[in-house]
Amino acid sequence: MKPARRQTTLSGRNIAIIGAGASGCLCAYFLLKAGLDVNLFDFSSPLRTLLPTGGGRCNLAHAEYDFKELAKNYPRGEKFLYSVFSQFSTYDTLALFEELGIKTYVQENGRIFPQSNSAKEVREKILNKITKANFIKEKVSFIERIGSEYKITTNKAKYLFTDVVAASGGHWGIEIFKHLDLSINPQVPSLVGLNSDIKAPSGIVLKNVYSKDLKISDDILFTHFGISGPLTFKISSIKARDKFPYKLSFDLYPKEFELQNLLNTYPHKELKNILSEFLPLNFVKYLLGDFAEVKAHKINGKVRDEILEKIHNFQLTITGTNKGEETVSAGGVDLKEINPKTMECKKHPHLYFTGEILDIDGFCGGFNLQNAWSTAFSAAQDIISQAE
Ligand SMILES: Cc1cc2nc3c(=O)[nH]c(=O)nc-3n(C[C@H](O)[C@H](O)[C@H](O)COP(=O)(O)OP(=O)(O)OC[C@H]3O[C@@H](n4cnc5c(N)ncnc54)[C@H](O)[C@@H]3O)c2cc1C
Repeated sequence: MKPARRQTTLSGRNIAIIGAGASGCLCAYFLLKAGLDVNLFDFSSPLRTLLPTGGGRCNLAHAEYDFKELAKNYPRGEKFLYSVFSQFSTYDTLALFEELGIKTYVQENGRIFPQSNSAKEVREKILNKITKANFIKEKVSFIERIGSEYKITTNKAKYLFTDVVAASGGHWGIEIFKHLDLSINPQVPSLVGLNSDIKAPSGIVLKNVYSKDLKISDDILFTHFGISGPLTFKISSIKARDKFPYKLSFDLYPKEFELQNLLNTYPHKELKNILSEFLPLNFVKYLLGDFAEVKAHKINGKVRDEILEKIHNFQLTITGTNKGEETVSAGGVDLKEINPKTMECKKHPHLYFTGEILDIDGFCGGFNLQNAWSTAFSAAQDIISQAE
């Protein structure tokens, strides 16, 4: 091991960013733009984590311009984000991407993408703007506070810095902070498919299903392990901290639906053909079982009510998350440790936390990257103001 090294800068501040992901690289961009030198640590290639976002298209923000409404999309972090988003909101994100030379567009569901639909392009454009950062390809093993400075130990060397931005994300262990006496909430998967006790035919999508427990609607996808798709991701996010197993009930067709009238109108039709007007045929066959091919006039009131109950009160038990599929993690550095205006750690001056390492996570739709950009901005602003 080499002895602790000091990175000297003109401003008198020696700044390290741990993690060259979305938040770390944007923080580096803001600091470099203000004329500060930056040391950027990552054991992997910078902005590698951006490449799979939005299915390779990078859903970089969401077209919600009211910061309080925007913050409602974060099951953990809503109130904390008021202050963050009032400093750097969706408008600022769009202006920032314009500045980076990345044109954007809004999809009809509010999701914002680069016009190129290419996460690769976003990555390259950001990296082109931070070439002056001193990139150190090393894995940080831990951080300690030594007086007013921070000692960073990596797999190769030890360093001393006056300012540290911890932007190491939600997926790679939080143990590097264990010497700092911080309250850390355990990280659990969010935005993930859910394993369930029932397995409907895989690949079927039901539109606009209503979750009766959570009072939200969206599309649901049945898979070989259970359920996935937009509604499931929202449920997995809201219930990220719930213990398994838990039960869920859904209204699969939450619209006006007079089954008895249909049975009377089409007495010689098979039940599966009547219901396939409303739900996909393969799913109807699964739902009806032995009744699928029974003619309408043979369906009595008891069977009719059982069928309606299955449609309007479809029940399943969730037994766990589909391992390896999670997009973000819920958990991380407890927000009570952090100043919401600056991202600075209350216990440790000049130590900042940004992005997914914080106990903040949002729904699908560009909200998690928005958190990464906005918290990076707050931290950078504070460092810049103190370096002046
Ligand atoms: C498949 C997938 C698709 C996604 N799509 C979207 C989307 O379209 N829109 C959206 O808003 N969000 C999306 N997300 C979530 C989003 O990518 C993350 O919330 C965001 O990248 C978090 O940014 P971050 O900078 O905090 O962490 P990251 O981007 O995860 O970066 C952390 C960096 O720190 C490095 N690091 C970690 N530990 C160490 C260490 N000890 N030493 C050195 N370096 C370290 C890592 O190598 C990594 O480069 C997606 C996530 C996934 C997995």
